[in-house]
Amino acid sequence: MTIEDIDRVAVLGAGSMGHGITEVVAIAGYQVTMRDVETDLVEDGYEDIEWSLEKLAEKDRIDEAPADVLKRIETTTDLESAVAEADLVIEAAPEEMEIKHDIFSDLDEMTPEDAILASNTSSLPITDIAAATDRPEQVVGTHFFNPPVKMDLVEVIYGDETSDATAETAYEFVESIDKTPIYVRKDVRGFVVNTVLGPFGDEAAWMVSEGVADIREVDATMVHERGYPMGPFELSDMTGIDIGYHVRKEAGQPVPPIVEEKVEADELGQKTGIGYYDYEHGDGADYVPEDAAEEFDWLRIEARIVNEAADLIGNDVATPEAIDTGLRLGAGFPEGPCRRADKIGLDTVLEKLETLHDEYGEERYEPSAYLRELVDEGRTGEDAGAGFYEYGDDAERDYTTINVELDDEGLLSVELDRTARMNALNQDMMDEIVHLLENADLEEVRAVTFEGAGDRAFSAGADITGFAGIDPHEVDVTPVFRTVNDFPRPTLAKIDGYCLGGGHELALACDLRVATENSAFGFPEIDLGLIPGGGGTQRAIRMLSEARAKELVFRGNRIDAETAEEWGLINRAVPADEFDDTVSEFVDDLVSGPPVALRKAKQVMNEGRDQDISAGLQLEAQAFGLLLSTDDMMEGAEAFMADREPEFEGK
Ligand code: NAD
Repeated sequence: MTIEDIDRVAVLGAGSMGHGITEVVAIAGYQVTMRDVETDLVEDGYEDIEWSLEKLAEKDRIDEAPADVLKRIETTTDLESAVAEADLVIEAAPEEMEIKHDIFSDLDEMTPEDAILASNTSSLPITDIAAATDRPEQVVGTHFFNPPVKMDLVEVIYGDETSDATAETAYEFVESIDKTPIYVRKDVRGFVVNTVLGPFGDEAAWMVSEGVADIREVDATMVHERGYPMGPFELSDMTGIDIGYHVRKEAGQPVPPIVEEKVEADELGQKTGIGYYDYEHGDGADYVPEDAAEEFDWLRIEARIVNEAADLIGNDVATPEAIDTGLRLGAGFPEGPCRRADKIGLDTVLEKLETLHDEYGEERYEPSAYLRELVDEGRTGEDAGAGFYEYGDDAERDYTTINVELDDEGLLSVELDRTARMNALNQDMMDEIVHLLENADLEEVRAVTFEGAGDRAFSAGADITGFAGIDPHEVDVTPVFRTVNDFPRPTLAKIDGYCLGGGHELALACDLRVATENSAFGFPEIDLGLIPGGGGTQRAIRMLSEARAKELVFRGNRIDAETAEEWGLINRAVPADEFDDTVSEFVDDLVSGPPVALRKAKQVMNEGRDQDISAGLQLEAQAFGLLLSTDDMMEGAEAFMADREPEFEGK
């Protein structure tokens, strides 16, 4: 079964996950049948989908009318009719092995023989579920996160016998419904995200149990200093303290005393009104005082997180990229733990674990063999040029947020690709653009274009969640804008759709901007109590009249492409059907132009803009003199005399 063969999907279960999965699969254009055991359960699930589609339509998040999406959804209580013609079945029934076994053995009988059978289980082994069938090679885990409509991540999990073909089709299917898949290549307990996330709550609970830290202090530090969206105790109160308790019990892991106490007292978190915080009589997770975040030894928690990640990599369960993507999208981590560990230094992490292991003698601090191996090889992180990732000039890097292509003419096309977030810039995207441009081969690259993936936005802003709580002194969003601005080749932003906030600043950092008429430009930062932080205020005021620049920044309103052209913010606003041709005309001149002269023109115009005219003229004169001695200048002159097209080589 290849992705092209998948047409009909069946989802089993219309509960929290089942209805959400049905909805995203139908939005993507597949025919879906949702099945539950009772009519009212199916109806409830269907109503939930209707409600959610309406919300998405109100926010302009779907391209079709809800009624058109609903036309692709059928519901039933009859298993056989739900799955008889399905190419892919996704099971989202209750988390009990007996139920899953019954379902999968029925599926083996009732589905077409090449159908792929997927389970949304969050904790049961795929291998065991697959054992109920005679086609374990066609059984795979597809672990969606809750709620599926909002959460981008899906873990694609191999059972012991899952074939590569099955896993690949499942992976491509996840991509086709606009979600981000990561491979979990072995059937390990907790898969990737929950395994790596485990120590976040666990180590925090041990530290509080030991009396070396206080609940509010831990949560405040992890949020305000380390940038996590929630502290470990607040998170545990939200998910239910009993959940973590049972996970540890089942895994045979020791339970921190404080967790034991809470479960015994039936203080399980928000659902019981009291957990680590008091939601009924107190203020809930009220750890806001930032000064609480000072002394806490957060490295104890992060070192264990990194250790879990290293273990998974060493055992070929997942790549650093998959782990980082998983924890960012699945757990809201501000950056991937592997990337972060490379910044902290893997030797520092290893030393922390060794010290803890010596002190407590507990297995949870035992450093992973792979972590030791990396440190022994001198791969201690970014400063050393390599850690989990490679750094430096010749580093090969798999980009996850941008798509890059270099054509024969020397045009480097960069597509910002976070369609679920309307291509909003986040730390990874900014890092990846910087990495790409810093490592670009200037012998080959003649010009760069930036555009947005999908059909809605160039880039609708910056994901500021990652910045929340970070020490103001550490916030530095400027490198990407600086790198684009200073890149020694001409850059052009191809704008089709929203161009807002950080995305707008990226476009302004480019040399040229061409947009479709239905594009919109703005700086909404002021509505968040912020100002543009990527050069937007400064570039706007240099590019526009003061009045117009201030209007954009102060009012936070959007302007359309026509106005943007009139104001001088962009070079051209054109109808959608003329967009590609107009861009090509610009790009042709840029890639065939003389590289050294273009570089010098860009440099003196950028630098001269910020100086008085005499300094600017001096810059120009120097550059002019230098260009007189280039081969390109000779070639240009000869071609002119011979009335032919010049062929510049950048010398
Ligand atoms: P739920 O209890 O909300 O829904 C399960 C539904 O399955 C119920 O409506 C139930 O009537 C129905 N059901 C029972 N037997 C069935 C059968 N034989 N065929 C079809 N439907 C059947 O549970 P949920 O939260 O949606 O979880 C479903 C699965 O997804 C579980 O395996 C769970 O571990 C997993 N999961 C849950 C979450 C989460 O946060 N809720 C996240 C990821 C994965």
